[in-house]
Amino acid sequence: MSQKTQQTEIQNLLRAIPKVDEFLGWVSQHQAPLRVVKKVVRELLEDVRGAILAGDGSPSDLAKPHLLFRFDRRLTRLMQANFRTVINGTGVVVHTNMGRSLLPEIAMDNIRAAGARYSNLEFDLATGKRGSRYSLVEELLCELTGAEAGLVVNNNAAAVLLCLDTLARDKEAIVSRGQLVEIGGSFRIPDVMAKSGARLVEVGATNRTHLRDYEQAITDDTAMLLKVHTSNYRIIGFTKEVPLGDLVELAGRRGLVVMDDLGSGSLIDMSRFGLEKEPTVQEAVAAGADVVTFSGDKLLGGPQAGIIVGSKDVIDRIKQNPLNRALRIDKFTLAALESVFRLYLDEDEALAAIPTLAMLGASYAEIKRRSARVVRRLRKVVAAEDCVVGSLDVQSQVGGGALPEQTMLSRAVTLKPLSCSVNQLEKHLRAVAVPVIGRVSDDTFLLDMRTVADQEVSELVHAVAAVFSPHS
Ligand SMILES: *Cc1c(COP(=O)(O)O)cnc(C)c1O
Repeated sequence: MSQKTQQTEIQNLLRAIPKVDEFLGWVSQHQAPLRVVKKVVRELLEDVRGAILAGDGSPSDLAKPHLLFRFDRRLTRLMQANFRTVINGTGVVVHTNMGRSLLPEIAMDNIRAAGARYSNLEFDLATGKRGSRYSLVEELLCELTGAEAGLVVNNNAAAVLLCLDTLARDKEAIVSRGQLVEIGGSFRIPDVMAKSGARLVEVGATNRTHLRDYEQAITDDTAMLLKVHTSNYRIIGFTKEVPLGDLVELAGRRGLVVMDDLGSGSLIDMSRFGLEKEPTVQEAVAAGADVVTFSGDKLLGGPQAGIIVGSKDVIDRIKQNPLNRALRIDKFTLAALESVFRLYLDEDEALAAIPTLAMLGASYAEIKRRSARVVRRLRKVVAAEDCVVGSLDVQSQVGGGALPEQTMLSRAVTLKPLSCSVNQLEKHLRAVAVPVIGRVSDDTFLLDMRTVADQEVSELVHAVAAVFSPHS
């Protein structure tokens, strides 16, 4: 085609683009807000125009059914919520990218009430005067952990920052080189320490730190001995960590405080799930730490929160820090946290009602039954020539940066697609109404049934069916 005829062709196509008002007339029946419909029409027509100017246009692009199809697809994408429910088939129980912990029903009820109605958030019903939001959970927290006092903030990163700022600002805090953790999302102990104004003094070697290392590093400027749980990694082989009790004894002799950042911080001994024994919060308190910090939404199985417990005088100082106001917990979290703490008053009740604990404690037999049910239902709706459906033993992980070396025997539903690649299947399952997230291994898509609830089975089956027969 000559330059000239090409130019004429482009001019003709540009003239054939429908006007915005004309297009709006085609879609006037749409339920979506007019401003969204207008935005989609304008952007679509601009794209069409751009393609024509770039020499990529053709008359078929301007056919009304084709334009309406593109309009519908764009509008649907814009009208869909960004924040959505997904099905977690990864088998990672405390999955940080998927919202960490699922809350018990009673916590959800209390969140609803806290949002829809007035509450005594900061109103003391006994005196009729202003109250403190922390007092709503402090007594429970003390009862459960054995601590003298406690408070809760936005998350554990905030808890660590607040404690260091209160107790070690412009002073030194001594930490073992083996415990300079980086958690995901750019939380690094040395960086948080720098932000708090505390000076980090590293002692020991990466694999071994002795009590004498701490002792020799103490100066007139030292305020704190800090122990940090190496949540998401393990140093194995020739290793030594100083027990908390020894740090407490040393700190007592030298007039220092001991802080223990437990990270996950559980109130229940994880060895009951066949996992490695982790120090519980109660044990850290009993060993004499002045202040213990942990997350609300890791192994505890509650809402996102940072929980601080310890001796009364230390906690009182933390409560008075003005930074506390900037890190404060909101009423929904507080409502959920109180319900979760109440469940822990009866360990059996906690194990049954808190989803994180129930999933960690689920038996292999129970998971295998769920897997068999899903396989049976999938085979009814997915043609054998499209996808081979089966099941396989797999290992689930705790997640949340807790117990990184530990896994639990579980059962996965396996999908081996024949009419598309496994990577395409993985992508399609992320694009359905309730996305299904799993993992790919050996050209097979695996869905670990530990983290899929019985109530989610129908949605899961529909999602897979929709991928293989999109028009049914
Ligand atoms: C996870 C973790 C944190 C941060 O807790 P968030 O609740 O995620 O803010 C801090 N310290 C340790 C040791 C952790 O494992």
